[in-house]
Amino acid sequence: MIFDRRRYGKDNYVYLLADGADAALVDPGDAAAALALASAHGLRPRFVLHTHGHPDHTGGTAEVVRQLGARVLGGGGDARWYRPDEDLAGAGELALGALRLRVHPAPGHTPGSVLYAWEGRLLTGDTLFWGGAGNCRHGGDPARLAETFLGVVAPLDGGLRVYPGHDYAEANLPFALDLEPGNAAARAQLEAARAARARGEEPAATTLADERAANPFLRAEELRPELLRRGLPCRDAREAFVALRGLRDAWRG
Ligand SMILES: [Zn+2]
Repeated sequence: MIFDRRRYGKDNYVYLLADGADAALVDPGDAAAALALASAHGLRPRFVLHTHGHPDHTGGTAEVVRQLGARVLGGGGDARWYRPDEDLAGAGELALGALRLRVHPAPGHTPGSVLYAWEGRLLTGDTLFWGGAGNCRHGGDPARLAETFLGVVAPLDGGLRVYPGHDYAEANLPFALDLEPGNAAARAQLEAARAARARGEEPAATTLADERAANPFLRAEELRPELLRRGLPCRDAREAFVALRGLRDAWRG
């Protein structure tokens, strides 16, 4: 079993999953970074998985397909950006050679966003970040993202380690602390992210349980009193989530 990641651009991640010779690249937005990651492990991935269609996640796919002949899978709802060979909209368990993944359709950041669970890891694309959630500015819908957080992410096992499409921890966690200055979990995560950067290392993945303690978008219910204090509509967790998304969009640290 091999799992690895590589940063490209400023804060994007491409991931490599492999079981024996069967390997997949997740979100090869940069072909050179993705191919280097695969060749560092001596692998020729036969599959490309996309968490969603935004160009910073799909920009290297054509070149990866050209070089490796890989098959592309993802949510068909993102057809305005790319067309997968196989639409995962209705998929549950996915078998790719020896790889077995769980696919969770997760609309909101984009219509065709999906999450992948594999061997105790959750690849969340731009739906769930360390300390935050994806914005809805490019084809997204905050109400659908709220449904995904409450209906898809909330029931998942807290032990899953979270591997997002970007490292936004240092941008997101100050917002969490603005809402909850006494949140020790958010403070500890921010300090850990800063310390990792100071050492020149990638941040360690958090677990979903860590995110439930620190990430405001998984704490919509707990944050309703604070949102009420700020005069925002939050009759239920769904409305509170949408209010949080709006606050984060306007927040300038
Ligand atoms: Zn995106």
